[in-house]
Amino acid sequence: MFGKAKPFTGELIERTQACTSCGKNEAIQIGKVDYWDIKQSNVVQCTACKLTQLDPMLTSEETAKGCLAYYIEESGRTSKREEQKNHVRNYRRGYLFAQSLNSRGIQPKHILETGPGSGYFCQGIKAVFTSVEVTVMDVNPKVLEFNKHEHGYHTILSELETTLADFENKFDLIIARDILEHVIDISAVLKNFRTYLNSGGYLHFITPNGHEDVWKHHLAFILKNEPSELLINHVNYFDGHGLRSLLNRNSFNEIEYYTYKLKHYRRGKGWKVANKLMAAISTKKSSDEFINKTLPETESAPKVDILNKWYLKTNLKFITRLVVWYQHTNLIKLNPDKNVGHEIYGLFRLMK
Ligand SMILES: [Zn+2]
Repeated sequence: MFGKAKPFTGELIERTQACTSCGKNEAIQIGKVDYWDIKQSNVVQCTACKLTQLDPMLTSEETAKGCLAYYIEESGRTSKREEQKNHVRNYRRGYLFAQSLNSRGIQPKHILETGPGSGYFCQGIKAVFTSVEVTVMDVNPKVLEFNKHEHGYHTILSELETTLADFENKFDLIIARDILEHVIDISAVLKNFRTYLNSGGYLHFITPNGHEDVWKHHLAFILKNEPSELLINHVNYFDGHGLRSLLNRNSFNEIEYYTYKLKHYRRGKGWKVANKLMAAISTKKSSDEFINKTLPETESAPKVDILNKWYLKTNLKFITRLVVWYQHTNLIKLNPDKNVGHEIYGLFRLMK
């Protein structure tokens, strides 16, 4: 399973939708998947460019519905305390990232973060580059509202595939953490990033090592021949080598590129309960039932501030510096071509 990504062998099929990277129609079927009860699809690998994707893709409506159901399920599992710990973790990661930019002599002034979540990653960056201007883009108005209110960021409500004329050459850094695996038309998104960045600007991303997930679905497919559960709406499954060449073809050149997170098992319910090697067989969870029944409970739950302000404050300043120093000296970085590790980290530079 480990080692350089080999092309899958299997039945050649005609895709229902062309590859969004190279436009070819021929693929190999790797798995069958269900996204809750919302969509039945296939995991296929393009025979020409080797990108692994869903076929058919999810529509925007299906993605939005699945995201909402998943969000409700996830909030049910995540305590307020855990949520605040996540803010602190993201702040640390932002701080660590900014330090690494600084050590390369890179000092961004205008940042675009896509899918910012809590926005604390850029707060960590702002601790290093105090005058940096942050704009965030998302499809969820609630996320944008939070980022504007909490951090004072500029906000843009938009899908990444839509080209926004106002932002040509506006940014010197685009951040896409856990985003690329969700976008339906990866070529359109990279083209927009090329437009929004000035020449010599940077793209930073993290994305799951899709090679690992594909194997889980593939095993369920060949051993059980039943649809496996698509945990979250991942529509692209990048392997380290394939992602690099996709970026290179789009004029992004590698500055730093590695895989990490070796010890921990993938977070997420399905992977934990399932056999570690095989994806869980689909249970066709009812999204409507989940949304209708659980939403009132989630919304009426008391929002208690469990962590004291001093915890957040101390963590955001002093402890962060210690942890970041520790992580910096201990992070194991591997060549993505090896396809080991759960997460792929990238910093690429655009040469127009
Ligand atoms: Zn292709």
